[in-house]
Amino acid sequence: MNRFNSREYSNFKNSLVASYLSFCDYYRPKYFILENVRNFVAFKKGMVLKLTLRTLLDMGYQCTFGVLQAGNYGVPQTRRRLIILAAAPGYRLPSYPEPTHVFSRRACSLTTTIDGKRFLSNIQWDESAPRRTCTIQDAMSDLPQICNGANKIEIEYGSMPETYFQRMVRSRDESAKLRDHICKNMAPLIQARITRIPNTPGSDWRDLPNISVMLSDGTKCKVLQYRYEDKKNGRSSRGALRGVCACAAGGTCSPHDKQENTLIPWCLPHTANRHNNWAGLYGRISWDGYFSTTVTDPEPMGKQGRVLHPAQHRVVSVRECARSQGFRDTYLFAGSVQDKHRQIGNAVPPPLGMALGREIKKALSASQ
Ligand SMILES: [Zn+2]
Repeated sequence: MNRFNSREYSNFKNSLVASYLSFCDYYRPKYFILENVRNFVAFKKGMVLKLTLRTLLDMGYQCTFGVLQAGNYGVPQTRRRLIILAAAPGYRLPSYPEPTHVFSRRACSLTTTIDGKRFLSNIQWDESAPRRTCTIQDAMSDLPQICNGANKIEIEYGSMPETYFQRMVRSRDESAKLRDHICKNMAPLIQARITRIPNTPGSDWRDLPNISVMLSDGTKCKVLQYRYEDKKNGRSSRGALRGVCACAAGGTCSPHDKQENTLIPWCLPHTANRHNNWAGLYGRISWDGYFSTTVTDPEPMGKQGRVLHPAQHRVVSVRECARSQGFRDTYLFAGSVQDKHRQIGNAVPPPLGMALGREIKKALSASQ
């Protein structure tokens, strides 16, 4: 049964998508773009997408949908988004922009399947593009070193741009200051963990040593105790136990087994067997790679944990996240560090917006 029940329908009516469509109904623009996460096509088995397209059609618009990879348009980040395009009667429906940058094949699966049918956009260049992938090095190698919790809103760049990307995002005014190269302040225990994540690409929490160290607040953290058999993984090569809770041996969890203030966070080995070993938590991004989808709040234990700088002992800065989205350095963000991260993480990468805008411009001139 592919139908909304009444509660789901009223959820849709109160959703952002429906309000956005009502703006379209009121203003009747020549062109309309709706951006959402790639999984929009799967919401309620495709019903939300169908209802959105149906609403646009009922208003007389021509419409189409496609999935785009922001990395294909020159940002050092994988971010797949569903883009709905619509054109008023008498105007030509725009095409999806062809990629300008090569990007990881694995991250470029842009087809969607709805009701067993595969949908593709007009994009032809799925194997090549004029430019190579934009890397984290391209995007941020010119930014000066800062510490955990850095909070000076304006500092000197201290160096010239080193890449084409950096020349494009930096102000033409060479005396301009660097804004928002600031980062969240992490608690002493978290900072001690970050400091001990190696700079080798791919490192994450599994590289933490099981030791007691002095924290920045003068206290010491503890060594994690492995007291249980781990039925799934057995013992270490030297015969040591590997479980941190009774559940590893097949028993039930007991609150007494929880350990706090350890360098290796107890909760990670506790549930690692069920969660792909929590790969990527406390992970560093790497110079020759790209960002995972830029988050609205960089947290080393967040579901997308690769948020540590490749070489410095801190989470990525506001400016680094803005660079990962392709924002120019002159673009202003407002509020606290958290507010700025949210504004950046929720945005459509400007280079992707630009590529779509160009297609709309082409369609508009072809219509007249
Ligand atoms: Zn347990």
